[in-house]
Amino acid sequence: MIEEKTPLSEIMRQAYRQGILIPAFNVAYIPMIKPIVESLKKHCTFGLLEVSRPDVEKFGAGSFQEVAEKYYALGERIFTRLHLDHIPVIDEDGEKVDWEHLIQVALDLKYDSVMIDGSRLTLEENISVTRKVVEFTHSYNVPVEAELGAVLGHEKGPLPPYEELFSSKKGFTGVREAERFIEETGVDWLSVAIGNIHGAISGAAKDKKKVSARLDIEHLKRLAEVTKIPLVLHGGSGIKRSCLMDAIRNGISKINIGTSIRQAYEFSLRDYPHDITTAQAKVAQEMERLIKEYEVEGSWPTFQEILEILRK
Ligand SMILES: [Zn+2]
Repeated sequence: MIEEKTPLSEIMRQAYRQGILIPAFNVAYIPMIKPIVESLKKHCTFGLLEVSRPDVEKFGAGSFQEVAEKYYALGERIFTRLHLDHIPVIDEDGEKVDWEHLIQVALDLKYDSVMIDGSRLTLEENISVTRKVVEFTHSYNVPVEAELGAVLGHEKGPLPPYEELFSSKKGFTGVREAERFIEETGVDWLSVAIGNIHGAISGAAKDKKKVSARLDIEHLKRLAEVTKIPLVLHGGSGIKRSCLMDAIRNGISKINIGTSIRQAYEFSLRDYPHDITTAQAKVAQEMERLIKEYEVEGSWPTFQEILEILRK
């Protein structure tokens, strides 16, 4: 049985070994927590609830404390865990962030895992910061996700045309760098850039439909060969479905989904101002669509699969 005690590091390790995908859903607004968690429970599946600094700063996630309180109040630990997403060392606006403080806050609030994002630093600096976080959080038995390469899209201003980005491999995670990064940091999971892009978080772009991204599966295979740890795909909304299925077969163990559920919530509120209940129902509907879509392919974890991997 999955128990409250089963550490997330173990769940992810097993998912990685068995080619099962653990989805992670970003909370951009506090009322989204309930429909996300309830949808996972209703479909007897498992996923992470996650919140990033941009969710708090640019949207309506309130604070890391508020998210943790609402999450723990629901008490559905069999179907979910709580992840701290993107704590950037340098944020999307070029400002320095007090990341040490934010990580400490999350550990005190019993987040199950944390992400440190040093992707805007040099390789050496990213290694040094990530190593520090790993040493610190491992003493709490909390796993760490880091990012190497640049998953673009959070920054202000227009992105270069997508096909240009893809063919030039701009920002892609380097294979040699990845090997060195993992060896020197001891990080648990790695967010990679292989053609995926973040949904926009500022200006008019955040309301637009996200471009449909492809993934360079050959590049992913080379990364998976040298890293041998769970790899994470950020920018999960709008990735071509066939690409995603290939990615799961080739080392992607966690996917972050933010834009599509956030927009379901925001667009509903725009049509029916102040009607939070309807907006929550729209999030549940989008969750349902996502769960159904992937369940068909047998890659989204059913509850039974999770139970089985944890019995081994
Ligand atoms: Zn991300």
